[in-house]
Amino acid sequence: MAGASVKVAVRVRPFNSREIGKESKCIIQMSGNTTTILNPKQPKENKSFNFDFSYWSHTTPEDINYASQMQVYKDIGEEMLLHAFEGYNVCIFAYGQTGAGKSYTMMGRQEKDQQGIIPLLCEDLFTKINDSNNDNSMSYSVEVSYMEIYCERVRDLLNPKNKGNLRVREHPLMGPYVEDLSKLAVTSYNDIQDLMDSGNKARTVAATNMNETSSRSHAVFNIIFTQKKHDMETENTSEKVSKISLVDLAGSERADSTGAKGTRLKEGANINKSLTTLGKVISALAELSTKPQFLPQKIHVLCQLKHFLIFCPLGGNSRTAMVAALSPADINYDETLSTLRYADRAK
Ligand code: ADP
Repeated sequence: MAGASVKVAVRVRPFNSREIGKESKCIIQMSGNTTTILNPKQPKENKSFNFDFSYWSHTTPEDINYASQMQVYKDIGEEMLLHAFEGYNVCIFAYGQTGAGKSYTMMGRQEKDQQGIIPLLCEDLFTKINDSNNDNSMSYSVEVSYMEIYCERVRDLLNPKNKGNLRVREHPLMGPYVEDLSKLAVTSYNDIQDLMDSGNKARTVAATNMNETSSRSHAVFNIIFTQKKHDMETENTSEKVSKISLVDLAGSERADSTGAKGTRLKEGANINKSLTTLGKVISALAELSTKPQFLPQKIHVLCQLKHFLIFCPLGGNSRTAMVAALSPADINYDETLSTLRYADRAK
């Protein structure tokens, strides 16, 4: 990996019923950190990529690359959570074509052992806070916000009454932020779970009303985590604030490959443009951490990318991880190859 700041994992899901119905072949192979994609039209042609993690869920748990939800959380989520405790801003995001497994990785399903990175991280956050409660000098506060970015418009999922779109503004010191976005204080994992559930419902309702699907928008769950340390001798209190951004991106499929027309095609093109932009942010992040001499130009370019900077923290005080979700099936070869290339550029 080029720098310490971006960690990249890819994860292939099992076949879905449509792929099984079409008798699709599996074109992904994984061994250790390496993921290989076979070209179904030219069986001898294959391409291999190395990532921090290559996760398999296509066959049995005995497979050496098989990764459960907990395994993915332990490798990626917990590491980022520990960085947040150290005072870093962190971002974990899932990228990939619609149906490839982004929501499964980030949110997961309700059943036992099926929860994704977001609920597991929130639960672990409170476990770790409670574990350190015997240290009287420390106190913690947690606030959450949940928003949806749809074609550069921002919607508050924790305050659905706020039907209007929120404005992205620039703070001279803190950088871009979303004006009037609700930030709710929580004191337990259950509190967060309730908010997450109502936010997810608001997301589905809004999408249905607007005749969209949630796959066309980015969902951003933010945790603002404040640690206060009180020095008994000097009576001084110091504060560390970290933002944890957990992002389920819009589907990365190319607008022209979905048969979309009119408004849909335009929306699709907009999503593609914004994902390409995000890709640039991510590769610049990797570059920034290894080649500080590029800093001024890069910062200049990046400053224009307000919408992504809301959740994609920059600079030395941040850590970013990406999970690229893949379909195993030959029928998705082009999209899967483009996802792998995107993930490869982020390293
Ligand atoms: P996306 O968010 O990328 O559109 P989803 O996360 O909704 O895709 O995944 C599509 C379907 O595949 C869902 O039913 C999901 O539960 C299932 N799925 C995705 N990834 C996995 C996985 N790694 N293991 C088992 N099932 C998965």
